Parts: sequence; structure tokens; C-alpha cells
Amino acid sequence: MLTATKENSTNTVESGEELTDGFHLVIDALKANDIDTIFGLVGIPITDLARLAQAEGMRFIGFRHEQHAGNAAAIAGYMTQKPGICLTVSAPGFLNGLTALANATTNCFPMVLISGSSEREIVDLQQGDYEEMDQLNAAKPYVKASYRINKAEDIGIGVARAIRSAVSGRPGGVYLDVPAQLLAQTLTVAEGKKSIFKVVDPIPRQIPGPDAIARAINVLKTSKRPLILLGKGAAYAQADAEIRALIEKSGIPYLPMSMAKGLLPDKHPQCASAARSYVLAEADTVLIIGARLNWLLAHGKGKTWGNNLKRFIQVDISPIEADSNVPIEAPVIGDIGSCVAALLAEIGSVPKPSAEWTGAIEERKEKNIAKMEVTLSANPSPMNFHSALGAIRNVLRTRPEVNLVNEGANTLDFCRAIVDMNQPRKRFDSGTWGIMGIGMGYSIGAAVTSGLPVVAVEGDSAFGFSGMELETVCRYNLPITTIVFNNNGVYRGTDVNPTGGPDVAPTVFVKNARYDKMIEAFGGVGYQVTTPDELTKALTEAIAAGKPALINAVIDETAGTESGRLTNLNPSTAKK
Ligand code: ADP
Ligand code: MG
Repeated sequence: MLTATKENSTNTVESGEELTDGFHLVIDALKANDIDTIFGLVGIPITDLARLAQAEGMRFIGFRHEQHAGNAAAIAGYMTQKPGICLTVSAPGFLNGLTALANATTNCFPMVLISGSSEREIVDLQQGDYEEMDQLNAAKPYVKASYRINKAEDIGIGVARAIRSAVSGRPGGVYLDVPAQLLAQTLTVAEGKKSIFKVVDPIPRQIPGPDAIARAINVLKTSKRPLILLGKGAAYAQADAEIRALIEKSGIPYLPMSMAKGLLPDKHPQCASAARSYVLAEADTVLIIGARLNWLLAHGKGKTWGNNLKRFIQVDISPIEADSNVPIEAPVIGDIGSCVAALLAEIGSVPKPSAEWTGAIEERKEKNIAKMEVTLSANPSPMNFHSALGAIRNVLRTRPEVNLVNEGANTLDFCRAIVDMNQPRKRFDSGTWGIMGIGMGYSIGAAVTSGLPVVAVEGDSAFGFSGMELETVCRYNLPITTIVFNNNGVYRGTDVNPTGGPDVAPTVFVKNARYDKMIEAFGGVGYQVTTPDELTKALTEAIAAGKPALINAVIDETAGTESGRLTNLNPSTAKK
């Protein structure tokens, strides 16, 4: 605590009265809203903010690059429905964090990026301050909301606005600008106390209209081949019991989007994942719960959808999501918990889907599962994606509580299809943008937030974006096992420079790199494995140890396909 006489000679407050300052007030405001962790990277002007957070009993998890701190905050927000907090320095630190904030907004994860900023009057006149940048305006196009606090007495309100903006309605990223001057401003302790408060009902329920529910039920009543599509919004909403009840009572087959895997266990008899292409093409009516008809769903039309316009019912909190790509016959707008509960109350009046429909799906599933088992149990040497992932799947089946982080091209596409999930909100991956670089950030965020083990299944290229955070993993001694699928390159390791010149091809890396040695540099445990049996043993041991580990899994360098399953998005591999 400061006093007027000692710490601040220019302050007009009567000598001896206890003062507080911007640093303390920011921490007080976060704590008042039950925020207990900050992910960040220190430097001017926010180093003391991090120290103080720790001194006041919060966790401060320090990273080596702001993007990964931001990704950790974003995934914490997704897991908890509380905004994940990321703290950075000005200009470049802010911009590094902004990538993660934009990704959070795109994925509908609640997050607040708090960045220190330079002197306002110098920045605004562009007089060349240290790390000068108009951060507030730079953030605006990429976030749900962007605020600056200029006065210490507004810190309580500013933090409240940031929290409410991040978690209410459709969740997203919020930027909060804290100028260095603000952090140094003082108030009396009494004034400060008065200015801090806890946000009341930050995630208000939003109840759908009865007419919208009746419309949706009518569409279902007249459908012949209905399908339910679950997105990560459904997982985020934490309405697990209602969603399960709706699916089971309706008898309708369902398809989880990648991060909705495990919302119901993937082995659920109504899960149609193993007949994905078939159900998307053949369904006549689709009830979408918390998913968007974006590129991941071929925009709701075309070949993927059997070249047929489906009848869509869409449950979403955002009213403008409906009709974004195709006409929605029955939009149901509200929070998923309330919408699904309202649909559940009426679902008894909808006839069960025909045995013809469910039987045809079952037939495809059985055929595809049998085919996959054959591929998974093959034991080629060198190991390929399938045999490695088969081993991982079998280990993780015995540990359903493990959080799975996954990125890469082939590594992502095959892992999503092969490794089944059995608990909600356990799979964190490249998401809406389909990006690389989330690996270690999401892993650290998930480990810190859940206190449970994390397994990160990473392509060797994807891992490179955040590999330095292995030091962070080791520093905090987190139970994270990173598995690097090492095929010597992006997509494949076999490309050659056709000119024969001194440089290697654009897609290849150092051959036979030992990523396991990287973690050893920081005191973690490294494994090098070349067979599914070795991988099984190493992974089992690493999860049981609960300590930082990295498994360098050597994969056939010819095994990958260019762009994984996104060949249609790559102009050079797209079918003309
Ligand atoms: P996926 O990638 O799994 O398809 P998306 O991120 O595209 O999922 O879609 C998630 C959708 O869920 C978004 O349209 C978002 O508005 C919606 N959403 C998120 N949280 C809620 C909630 N609590 N209630 C209703 N809708 C939600
Ligand atoms: Mg690779």
C-alpha cells in the first residue's frame, strides 16, 4: 500500500492517507470477478502488474512469446466460460497477443487481452515514443470489443465492460488498453474500493421464443432423414445433460464437429462420425446446435451435402448467424442450454426416425469401422500416421480424462478421425481458422486450467511454431506429453529442389531431427520411438509420470499428402 507522503509527493490527497494505484486496482477488479490466472509475458510497463498479481494470490504463467500466452488464455476461456486473461507489453508484444485474440474471436472463445501502452499524448501526435503504437485502433477490426481505460477510478468499470463483452452473447476476444500512466495513477484506498465490483449475471440466459420452438419442431415432424450436428458452441455451452437427453429422446443420429467430439462419447450408438460423408449427403433435415456453416461444412451446400439444399434448423446465440450461407428454415435463437431444454420439452411429439434411415447409417458405420481397424492394425515400417495414431488411440481410451491438443495437416486430419473422445471439452485443435501454432499455448492453458494431463499430437511443422514453449512447460512442471509426428517436413519430407541448387525444397526440414533432445535441454523427459509398441510404452509411461515429456515419433517421410485433406483449398492440388 502506498501513502501520500512517501510515494507520491505531487498527490493532492492529505498527507498520510492510504493510497492505492492503477496496478492494484486492475488486480483487485480481476479478483473481484473470480479471475485467478493471468497468462502473459512481462516487460515495460506491465512487469509490476504480473508481480503484484502473484503477490495477491493469482497465478501468473509467463511465456516466451505472447501468441502462446494468448492461446493459453483463449483455451482457458473455452474450458471455463470465464474470460481467459492475457497480459502483454506494448506494440510488438501487443501485436503478438493480437493474433491469439483474433483467433479467439473467430472461434467464439471468451478472452481479454490486456496490454500496456505508451504515453497517449506522444502516441497520438506520433512523436516517436518507445514502442509507439495506436493499439486500441489496431485491435478493433479483429475483436468483439476494444476499450481503453484512462482514469484509475474507471478501472472497475473498464474491467467489467471487458468481461461482459467477452462472455455475454456470442463469446469472443476483447482488447483492454492500459496506458503506463494509468497504472501509476493513485486514488485513496477508500475511493478505489468503491470503484471495484463484481459483474452481475455476466452470461445472461437468452430464452428462445415459443414460436421459434414450434417452427423447429414442425420441421422435424415432417423430416424423413434427420441429422443433428453438434459444434464446439454446444460443447462450450456446458449443457451436456440436456443435449444428451435431446439426442437420446429423439433417436436422431448426430455428427460432432471436431471440438464437439466427446460431448457425448464417440462410441455412442447414435454417433454417425464413421458415416460422415453418407449422412451429410443423405440427410434431408439438419438440426445444427452451436456450429457454423462455414468452410469446415462446405458452406452448407454442394457435393458434400449431396448437391441438395437441406432443410436447416439452427440453434445459435447469434441472430445473424442464420442465413449466413444458406437459408435457415427454422432459426432458434438463444443460449444452447435454454434452446435445447425447450426443444426437449416438445420432442416427444416428433416421430422417431425410420429404421430405414438409422439402419442405412449403421451399415455404413460398421463397414467403415471394420475397414479402419484393418488399416490401424497394420504394422508398416517405418511407422505411418495410422499405425502411430492407432497406438495413441488405444492408450487414450484408458485415460478419458486426458486433454488432447492436435494440430498439423495430415496429423490433424487423421487424428480427428482415429482418436475417439469420451468426455466433453477435451479436444482442442486448429479450430475455425484451421491454423497452426496453437499447440503449446493450448496445452499449457489446458493443463493449468484443468490440473489434468495433456497429450499434444503435433505435426513436426505445426510444433515448430510454439516449440520454445517447452521451456514454459518444464518451468511450471506441467503434465504435458508432446508427441511430434516427425516426417522430416511440411506434409512430407521427400521434396527436392528441382534446380539442384544449394537450398533444400521449401517443404522439408533437417532430416532425422531429434525433437526429444529439445525438452531434455530444459529438464524434461525425451523419447525417440519408431514403432507403435515403443510409442505405446512411452506414452503410457509419460502420462503416468505426470511430468513434461516429448516423444519424437518417427513417421514414414513419404506418408503425408500435400495439404492433408484440404487439397481442394490448395490451388496447386485442387481438382480443376
Ligand atoms: P464448429 O467449428 O464446431 O462448427 P463454430 O465455432 O463454428 O463451431 O460455431 C459455434 C457456434 O456456437 C457459434 O455460431 C456461436 O455463436 C455459438 N455459440 C457459442 N456459445 C453459445 C451458447 N452458449 N449458446 C448458443 N450458441 C452459442
Ligand atoms: Mg511433417
